[in-house]
Amino acid sequence: MIRLIMWVALIAAIVWFIKRLLNPPAKKTRAQAPEVAAAPMVRCAQCGVHLLRDRALSQDQQWYCSEAHRLEGPAARDR
Ligand SMILES: [Zn+2]
Repeated sequence: MIRLIMWVALIAAIVWFIKRLLNPPAKKTRAQAPEVAAAPMVRCAQCGVHLLRDRALSQDQQWYCSEAHRLEGPAARDR
């Protein structure tokens, strides 16, 4: 009789363990990296360097790294 109770207890423990594995306690995970949203990067249309959008200069829906490149306009090569 004691063996039966031990088996029942063991099976109950295994079932509880499996349920716990399948349904872990609520753990919030963030899918997106926060720094990507906080600091968007843009590409200079002249030299192709990447820089923070806060520091970039925009003209005609293009981004430039500096005033000189903004005046030069987009580069001829389209890369
Ligand atoms: Zn540039």
